[in-house]
Amino acid sequence: MRIVNDNNCGWINDLDTRSNIKTLDKDKSCDWLIIGAGYTGLSAARKLSELHPSQKIIIVDAQLAGEGASGRNSGYLVDTTLNDGFTSDKELFNYKKKTDIYKLGIEVVKKFIKDHQVDCDWNECGKFFASSNQKDRKILENFSSTLTKLDFAHNILEKKNLAKRLGTNFYDLALYTKGGILLHPGKLVRAMVNILPSNVELLENSQLNKWIKNKDKILCKFNYFKIITKKVIFCTNGFLKSLGIKKNYNFPLTLTASMTRTLTDIEFKDIGEPNEWGVLPVRPMGATVRMTKNKRILIRNTAEVHNPFKMTKSNLDKRYQNQCIGIRKRFPTLPDNIIESSWSGIVSRTRNSSQIFEKVDDNIFVAGCYNGSGIGVGTLFGEQIAIKASNENSIEIKIIESRKKPTLLPPKPFLNIGVKSRLIYERFRAKTEI
Ligand SMILES: Cc1cc2nc3c(=O)[nH]c(=O)nc-3n(C[C@H](O)[C@H](O)[C@H](O)COP(=O)(O)OP(=O)(O)OC[C@H]3O[C@@H](n4cnc5c(N)ncnc54)[C@H](O)[C@@H]3O)c2cc1C
Repeated sequence: MRIVNDNNCGWINDLDTRSNIKTLDKDKSCDWLIIGAGYTGLSAARKLSELHPSQKIIIVDAQLAGEGASGRNSGYLVDTTLNDGFTSDKELFNYKKKTDIYKLGIEVVKKFIKDHQVDCDWNECGKFFASSNQKDRKILENFSSTLTKLDFAHNILEKKNLAKRLGTNFYDLALYTKGGILLHPGKLVRAMVNILPSNVELLENSQLNKWIKNKDKILCKFNYFKIITKKVIFCTNGFLKSLGIKKNYNFPLTLTASMTRTLTDIEFKDIGEPNEWGVLPVRPMGATVRMTKNKRILIRNTAEVHNPFKMTKSNLDKRYQNQCIGIRKRFPTLPDNIIESSWSGIVSRTRNSSQIFEKVDDNIFVAGCYNGSGIGVGTLFGEQIAIKASNENSIEIKIIESRKKPTLLPPKPFLNIGVKSRLIYERFRAKTEI
C-alpha cells in the first residue's frame, strides 16, 4: 500500500514548490538510516550529522519531506494540555512530567529558529481552552487549580471579554494560558528540510516496504532498490504500526482541518479585528480553531480511526462539511463558501498518552506517538533519539525516560471496538462544540 497525501493543505500551499527532489534510484549503504522526514526524522538527521560529521546518513520519506502531519497540523506549540483535575499527588506529579517534556520541546524549537533565523510566524500569544457550555466550568476550575499548583500563569474569561478577544459570541467561558506559541507548521518543517547538512542525503517519494535485521546489518527494501544500514531510526509516527514497530502499543488516527481564505477588510472589521488567537476545545472531540496571523480561520474538528493508506476525496468532502458547520456556528456573518483548503493528516496514539522513545533492538531505535502535540516533542525526541542511538546521554533523555512507558493495547477486535466507541461517545459529548 502506498502513502498518499491529499494536496490541498493551506499551510503547504503557502510554501514555494521545491525542485531539488531526489528519490532512491539505486541500491545504497550507509551508517545511519532514518525512516520518515517530519519534525522527528529531520531533527534526528540534524543531530546525527553534528555528532558524526564523517559518517554517511540517509533520511527517506514515502512522500515529500515535511508534507505529512508535520506540515499539516494546527500549529499549536503547547506548554500544557487540558486535564480535569487530579485526585492524587502522584497524578499531579505525572502531569508535571508531561509538561516538563513540553517545556523542553518549546526550548528546542526556539533554539532551532534562533540558530537558523527561521521565520515561521512565531507568536507567543498563549492559548484558550474554550467552551460554549456552562457545564464545562467545573472542568476549567479544576484545570485552573492544577495550573496554579504548577505555577502556570492563566486566567478564566467570561463570554463578554471572550467575544471581544476572539471576535465570536460562540464561547461562554475559557481558560487562557499565557504559555504556548502559535506558529506556521509548514514554514517550520520546511526550514528543517532546507538546512539539512551536507552529510545527510534526503531521498523522497521512496517508501520503505519491508525491513529485515541480519546480524549487525539491517536490510531495508523499497519498491525497486534497497538500502543496507548499520543503524536505523524509525520516525514514521502514524505509520509505525504498519512497519511493525511497537505495533501493540500505538495506533493511527486521521485528523482533518480546513482553512478559510484571508478575510476581507470588511469581514475582519465586522468581527471586531481581533489579534491572532488559538482556541483548544474543553471536550476532546470539540473543535480546535485559530485566527491566523494573516486573518485566515483554521478549524479542526474531526478525529477518526481510519486506514491511513486510504485518503479518499469523498472522505475529505464529508469532513469538510463538518468544518463548514463549525465555521458557520462561530462566524455566522461570513459567507458559506469561505473555506479555501481542507486536508487530512495521520497522527499516532498510545493507550495512556505516553510517547514512544526507545531502542527496540540492537541498532534499531524509534521515537514517536505524540498524541496530537508533536511540534515541540517531535523536534525534541528526534534530536534526543539521535543522541541515544549514538550511545550518549543527556539530561533531556533522563527526563524523557522518567515518564511512564506506553501500555499494551487490547487485541485487535477489542481495540477497534474500544477506540471507535470511545470516539463516538466523545463526539456525542462534544456535539455542541464542533
Ligand atoms: C490536522 C492535524 C493537526 C495537528 N495539530 C497539532 C498541533 O496543533 N500541535 C502539535 O504539536 N501537533 C499537532 N498535530 C500532530 C503533529 O503534526 C505530529 O505529532 C507531528 O507532526 C509528528 O511528527 P513526526 O515527524 O513524528 O511525524 P510525521 O510528520 O507524520 O512524519 C512521518 C513521516 O514518515 C513518512 N513515512 C511513513 N511511513 C513511511 C515509510 N514506510 N517509508 C518512508 N517514509 C514513511 C511519512 O510520509 C511522514 O512524512 C496535528 C496533526 C494533524 C494531522
